Amino acid sequence: MITTVSYQSTRGGESGVPSSRAILEGLAKDGGLFMPDHIPQLDVSLERLAGMTYQEVAYEVMKLFLTDFTEDELKACIAGAYDSKFDVPEIAPLREADGAWYLELFHGSTIAFKDMALSILPYLMTTAARKNQVKNEIVILTATSGDTGKAAMAGFADVPGTRIIVFYPKGGVSRVQELQMVTQKGENTAVVAIHGNFDDAQTGVKQIFGDAAFGKRLASKGFQLSSANSINIGRLVPQIVYYVYAYTRLLRAGKIVAGDRINITVPTGNFGNILAAYFAKQMGLPVKTLICASNDNKVLYDFFKTGVYDRRREFILTSSPSMDILISSNLERLIYLSAGCDAAANSALMKELSETGAYTITDAMRENMADFVGGFATEEENAAEIKRLYDKTGYLIDTHTGVASAVYRAYMERTGDETPTVIASTASPFKFSRSVMEAVFGNQEGRDEFSIIDDLSRAAGLPAPKAIEEIRCAQIRHRRECDKDGMEREVADILGLS
Ligand SMILES: *Cc1c(COP(=O)(O)O)cnc(C)c1O
Repeated sequence: MITTVSYQSTRGGESGVPSSRAILEGLAKDGGLFMPDHIPQLDVSLERLAGMTYQEVAYEVMKLFLTDFTEDELKACIAGAYDSKFDVPEIAPLREADGAWYLELFHGSTIAFKDMALSILPYLMTTAARKNQVKNEIVILTATSGDTGKAAMAGFADVPGTRIIVFYPKGGVSRVQELQMVTQKGENTAVVAIHGNFDDAQTGVKQIFGDAAFGKRLASKGFQLSSANSINIGRLVPQIVYYVYAYTRLLRAGKIVAGDRINITVPTGNFGNILAAYFAKQMGLPVKTLICASNDNKVLYDFFKTGVYDRRREFILTSSPSMDILISSNLERLIYLSAGCDAAANSALMKELSETGAYTITDAMRENMADFVGGFATEEENAAEIKRLYDKTGYLIDTHTGVASAVYRAYMERTGDETPTVIASTASPFKFSRSVMEAVFGNQEGRDEFSIIDDLSRAAGLPAPKAIEEIRCAQIRHRRECDKDGMEREVADILGLS
């Protein structure tokens, strides 16, 4: 017997929202994020889950959160998403290297972990639209630090009844990431480079969502907005699955016994992926510590250390661009939970953040976050870890996974905590080939991206993934650019409003 889960805004303006509507809306009308009214508990044993496929585990987890989807609807979404788009049948394989377990989340069509949720979101969204008799065309507006944009377009390209518009920071993404986006096919896709950073793009998108007059203008032309960012509950829920799956693979392989606790390390930007791991723990998965790894933009490290969130600092471009973020949107969900689901307290802090750029949480809230520890790795530490691991084991990791790996090794050294640890491996090294090759073999200046990729392929002993072959000769189809305060005009132009 599954109890109903409904969704409410972290800012108190909406409650009792069924999951399908929360997915359609993306962001609550008051600017808050949707949260389940309670976290459901896993209702099958870990041993039974250990015998299941990825798709079966996905159903057992997602059915508990998306309670207004029927079994048939949910199973159809899962079957459509997790198929041969993934280049391994396990979907998310676990790979041991130097005593840690790397959970490879990059076997989908755009070779980053965003595929794990964005391959299913279009199915969830179109099913939700049908269930709610939506007649409008759904316009997915997305800010990307590099990976979400491509993964969302791959999922939504030519999906009837949808349009997708992606904003990315010009100069703030890797060459492979940019090529993947600007070559995207699909009549319903649009890509815009903004003159600003990821935070500007994300803030701009949130402003468009909050502009009621613009919303009316859209509605009069038969459009309604939704989001493919990790603020959408339809992305968070599918991300819980692979943590449950990873645990049960360790169990199946006899590396742990049921009930043993594991640690999870996540390279973090918008706080979506690690929040999903926290939800897995809250559902009853035996997890001890969640290690939140940051790059030089270490606002989260400072936050967990001091209880002060302070974005008033320089935005640093690093070799792990998908983590170059100073406003981690999903942290709002943890703030809300740690305040005992007090929407007023959360709203006050978020108001402070937008007005002053900082806020401080109470000691009681900090105690409620004791499952998390923060760490960060500098550019040098990240490169050194990628090289160390490769030299020792022959395993090549990307620059985001490198941050997590470096932070985990330092944590272990500092604490002596030898709990078995899963490290979320969030991108293929091919996606960040230049930085990865520079870490291992030194300067690659002046070299063409694709000859670096060929060298990486030899070094890793792996063929370049299909996603790379696709962009080698693909035609550039998107050339739009705009200033950070011109995003709404750009949307109007793309949709032909006037
Ligand atoms: C998006 C992304 C991250 C950060 O994930 P969040 O859920 O935003 O914390 C880390 N690594 C890669 C490769 C990513 O694409």
